[in-house]
Amino acid sequence: MATVNLRIFRKLVLGNRRRMKSFLTLLEKKAPKGLQEFRVEADKQVWQRTDCLDCANCCKTMSPTYTKEDLRRISSHLGMSEAAFKEKWLYKDKTGDWMNVKQPCQFLDLKTNMCDIYAVRPRDCAGFPHHNTKKMNADYMHMYKQNIEYCPATYRLVMTVMEKFNGG
Ligand code: SF4
Ligand code: SF4
Repeated sequence: MATVNLRIFRKLVLGNRRRMKSFLTLLEKKAPKGLQEFRVEADKQVWQRTDCLDCANCCKTMSPTYTKEDLRRISSHLGMSEAAFKEKWLYKDKTGDWMNVKQPCQFLDLKTNMCDIYAVRPRDCAGFPHHNTKKMNADYMHMYKQNIEYCPATYRLVMTVMEKFNGG
C-alpha cells in the first residue's frame, strides 16, 4: 500500500484545487455517461493506494458532526454525562450541530494516528470520506469540492475522474 505524504499532498492541493473545483462544477451541471460507475471502480483503486493510518488528516484538521446517538453512545462509553462530554469538548455551531472545539480531535493518538474511541466513534467519522454513499452529483458536489483539500483519498478519486473525463 502506498503511503500518504501530507506535505506533498498540501502542495498538490495548492497547485490543482482551482481546476479540480472547476471540473467538479462542470460535473454538477452535466454528469458524463458512466460517471457514477467509473467513480465506484476508481474508488476501489484509490483505497489500494491510500492507508488512513499514514494520514489521519481528517482527524487532524476537520471536526465530525455528532448526532444525538453519537453523543449518547460516546459519553456512555467514557462514563460521562452527555452534558459533561459537551462541556469538555464540543461547541454548537451556527446550524445547531455539535462539533469539536479542538483540532486535532481529542480522541486522536498522534503517535499512531489511531482513534482512541474507534469502536464507538461518531457515525460521521465511520463513513468519512463518504465516497460510497454520496454520488458525484449536484446534491453532494460541495462535499467533494471541500474534501479534496483535506482528504488525500478524495483528492485521488477526483483527480482520477478528471483524468478520465476531462483529459486531466
Ligand atoms: S473521533 Fe476518532 S475518527 Fe473521529 S475525528 Fe476523532 S480521532 Fe478521528
Ligand atoms: S479518510 Fe482521507 S483524510 Fe481521513 S485518514 Fe483517510 S485518507 Fe486521510
